[in-house]
Amino acid sequence: MGTFAYITCPGVERYSFSAFHPLRPERVVLSQQLAQMMGVLNDSDFVQVSPASPELVSEVHSPGYVQTVRLLSEGRHVPGYQQFGFASGDNPPFRGMLEAALAVVGASVGAALAVMDGVQVAVNLAGGLHHARREEAAGFCIFNDPAVAIHVLKQKFRRIVYLDVDVHHGDGVQWLYYRDPQVLTISIHESGRFLFPGTGHPDEIGAGEARGTSANIEFGRYADDEIWWWAFQAVVPRLFQWFQPEVVVLQMGADPHFTDPLAHASLTTQGWLRAAQWVVEQGLPVVATGGGGYSLTAVPRMWTMALAVLKGVPVPNGIPPQFALYDEVKTLRDEQPPALPERLRETGWQFAEQAVLQLKSHLAPYVDWGEPHEEVGKADAEHSRDTANQ
Ligand SMILES: [Zn+2]
Repeated sequence: MGTFAYITCPGVERYSFSAFHPLRPERVVLSQQLAQMMGVLNDSDFVQVSPASPELVSEVHSPGYVQTVRLLSEGRHVPGYQQFGFASGDNPPFRGMLEAALAVVGASVGAALAVMDGVQVAVNLAGGLHHARREEAAGFCIFNDPAVAIHVLKQKFRRIVYLDVDVHHGDGVQWLYYRDPQVLTISIHESGRFLFPGTGHPDEIGAGEARGTSANIEFGRYADDEIWWWAFQAVVPRLFQWFQPEVVVLQMGADPHFTDPLAHASLTTQGWLRAAQWVVEQGLPVVATGGGGYSLTAVPRMWTMALAVLKGVPVPNGIPPQFALYDEVKTLRDEQPPALPERLRETGWQFAEQAVLQLKSHLAPYVDWGEPHEEVGKADAEHSRDTANQ
């Protein structure tokens, strides 16, 4: 294996709750096709791995939950199965879901093992199912593949950062490592006041000896490229400097895009990409996963751009005409960013500034922000905002 690996596992394409469910396997298939067509992915990048074993998954999820998934997957009735999260319309049980979910985890574990073997960046676009809890399916997620990947990475690395740019809070990973001081989870997301899963507030900072190792950057509705990137920059670089991670697990949910049907953020493809660019610049090994993202005209463009950045290769902006989906959208970059009314922008800034202040104040006993946090007032925020606008 070289410095970059694109990990696949047979069976991930069967991770599909129904033909009408938003988490459609096409999201990954189309992204992969576009990336190949545009010369970002070559045959030599592909590494095929085996599904994860139920035993490995049971080290992160409870054995009883894994067994329930198995029985439901075989079409058997499990009394009380509702308590495991399968009653909601988000996660209806389907035949073969055990194998499909193990395949998704297998590819993320394969990415973790590749990085432990010396690969600089390994990607599983089918992964990033960050909502699954220890004993509960949630938000389209059955097994938490990023959490299992982190579990494997811990065999080699002492300090791991999980960075989640999905528009939804990375709650499952956060709670699974909430008491683990070796894992710093950082999630930048639309506030739980407006969006599933309803958590991810600035006062969720970890527990026990892991206090200070959970960070939540909230933004309000309609946050655009500038607000999002300002909030990211205000928090993430300092946290990396403080925590000194040895490896990064990057969840690249593409649902902050302005065309996404399930959320309210207003990012462009190129605005969202800055997070992956920044991570690559840190020079650390990276396990990258996909995640949410439900706009089929945006997700393949965003993940193609992200793959190019992660691999360190250039990609042209123009989409080949034979990529039929894009009769309307001809470029990877969004040429026409959404024009937000000034009033919404102003509200968006206020929300983000407030949330960043709160986060810094909650983490201040653990993280030295390099500034007296009491004095980080409106004036400083105004200044930072001016800088961000330049
Ligand atoms: Zn999401």
